Amino acid sequence: LSAELDALRGLPSQTTDGVRLPLFLNTGLVSEQRPLGIEESAGIGLYRTELPFLVRDRFPSENEQLRNYRAVLETFAPRPVTIRTLDIGGDKPLPYFPVQESNPFLGWRGIRITRDHPEIFITQVRAMLRAAVGLGNLRLLLPMVTTVEEVDDALLLIQRACDELADEGIDAAMPPVGVMIEVPAAVYQADAIARRVSFLSVGTNDLTQYLLAVDRNNAHVASLYDELHPAVLRALMTIVAGARLYGCEVSVCGEMAGDPLAAVLLLGIGVHNLSMSAGSLLRVKGVIRSMSRARSRELLRVALQCETGQAVRHLLTDALEEVG
Ligand code: PEP
Ligand code: MG
Repeated sequence: LSAELDALRGLPSQTTDGVRLPLFLNTGLVSEQRPLGIEESAGIGLYRTELPFLVRDRFPSENEQLRNYRAVLETFAPRPVTIRTLDIGGDKPLPYFPVQESNPFLGWRGIRITRDHPEIFITQVRAMLRAAVGLGNLRLLLPMVTTVEEVDDALLLIQRACDELADEGIDAAMPPVGVMIEVPAAVYQADAIARRVSFLSVGTNDLTQYLLAVDRNNAHVASLYDELHPAVLRALMTIVAGARLYGCEVSVCGEMAGDPLAAVLLLGIGVHNLSMSAGSLLRVKGVIRSMSRARSRELLRVALQCETGQAVRHLLTDALEEVG
């Protein structure tokens, strides 16, 4: 790590005109969080729960999951920890839950699976709620949402898990619930979704894949995969506008949030915080601290007139060279 980046440790993620853009961590295993994340992050913005499911040869029990979630909630308390419900399928198959599909990315994945298997969902949510007792820093995130019915069903199941625990004498509180915006349909219903939940978290990895019809893991089309594509920027504008109608918080937790060039635009678009892997935190913080929000809005205005991702990239590269 360069000395320049090292000097940013402990400093707030704040623009030159005093706007804070809190930076959170993406993670999946407690062991990964130790090195830099604990001091430098505002909390966890995306805890992917697939890994604890992938390292076993069967579904982990409620108590096994509870230990996992408790460890991460405790490590970061009182800072918020956003735990996502199981997002298997697509590029994340579970060996002991085989799904045969010719087109897994358009198939049974994420909330589509747990909606059809409420027992998997309820067990996981119960484990999360129990893990948060006495800590209160849990936020719960729903992946791959396409319709508001999925949100309504999930909210009912989460409420049911709370009620079950109350009947058992466990004092579990309904946590803030958020929805991943990563399917194009959800972009155009960001307002309807925002009305139902506490926060939206934009999954730009999948959103880019689905907007551009480019498999995020296919080398043949990798050159077409571009998070700075004008269509992605316009989608982000639509999401933030929809959320604003209901005062709903918007985060970005896809890889885009960890790209310093993109972070400048996300600041201009008006997202409330970013979540990224530990390795990107200081670099993004450096860029935020070198910029005013006013300047990021100017850059956004120009970027929205660009017709290619390449033009957006040039614009931002030049702008960042200017500020050093
Ligand atoms: C995303 O799709 O941007 C995201 C953060 O989720 P994942 O990479 O786990 O699909
Ligand atoms: Mg995703």
